[in-house]
Amino acid sequence: MNRVEKKEDILRGREIELSYIRKVGNYESNEVENELVFFLPVGCFWARTLGGCYHCGFQDVINEITRKYCCNLIEIVKVEYKKYLNINIKRVFFYVGGSFFEIKDEVQDEILSFINTQTMIRDIYIESRPEFITKENIQRLKFLLQAKNLIVAIGVETYNEKVRNEVLSKGISNNSFELAMHILQSENIKALVYIFIKPPIKNITDKKAYDETLKSMEFVIEKGASYIELKSGCIMYNTKVYELYKVGRYTPLNIWTVNKLLIEANERYKNIPIRLGVFDEIFSSIDVPKGCILCDEFLKEKLQLYRETMDSEVLIKHTTCYCSII
Ligand code: SF4
Ligand SMILES: [Zn+2]
Repeated sequence: MNRVEKKEDILRGREIELSYIRKVGNYESNEVENELVFFLPVGCFWARTLGGCYHCGFQDVINEITRKYCCNLIEIVKVEYKKYLNINIKRVFFYVGGSFFEIKDEVQDEILSFINTQTMIRDIYIESRPEFITKENIQRLKFLLQAKNLIVAIGVETYNEKVRNEVLSKGISNNSFELAMHILQSENIKALVYIFIKPPIKNITDKKAYDETLKSMEFVIEKGASYIELKSGCIMYNTKVYELYKVGRYTPLNIWTVNKLLIEANERYKNIPIRLGVFDEIFSSIDVPKGCILCDEFLKEKLQLYRETMDSEVLIKHTTCYCSII
């Protein structure tokens, strides 16, 4: 594929959506709530300087957006927010294709001060690599968001440092993760930790991915995670995982594996809400977790219902579909 075709593939002719509403269950009542997601084109120093994480293609998307458009982040937030004035929004989630703290301090302050004045919003999620989670940064945001819950999401992906850094190229040591978790706990801020279910290891099976994910959950809970989000690894263009996928050495997850993991995790960790990431990232995914033609649609609906209610009762405990064996 030449460079021009690749660029077109990144956006695949879609309108660029800088915000959208997704339904997420209340962790306690299982009521369906609105979560407003902002996608701010900021980018990631890790991707710009060292090529980024193995599975992540966001920097290319952001480069594409910033090449085409001027992006004033404060204006984006204010203009996008106006689209949802009639909707009861409980949570706001900022995706920046990197760490929220890579936004200039004064811009962060202005964005969050604006959000802080919106009375319906209860929770504010930001994402950050561990190295940006300092006492100063956290205290500054806490000061701005006194009436709201701040939750910091960290993509640690796996308990296994070797897989995290040699396979996923995250550049995150267990020590730096632990230090960040320690800072968050000392500031009384909750952490949402991402776990990547099936890292792009040549010929990895779903069974191996399942076992390793349970170990990763144990690890991050032990380090103080309040919430977990399972990421299922869609294939994005311009990532190294795409190279493995192209030659048949990596297959996206069987969605039954995701269903089984959620059942097991909900039984083991009753006090830790386990979120499920979307299968299709906002831009440029070309393959996603799936089942066979008989069950794919049905199970995807159930998993979506799980996302929207956070109620493990909606998951499928028994099935006879041939494709469910992992
Ligand atoms: S996964 Fe996060 S840290 Fe890694 S390159 Fe993507 S945005 Fe950067
Ligand atoms: Zn099936």
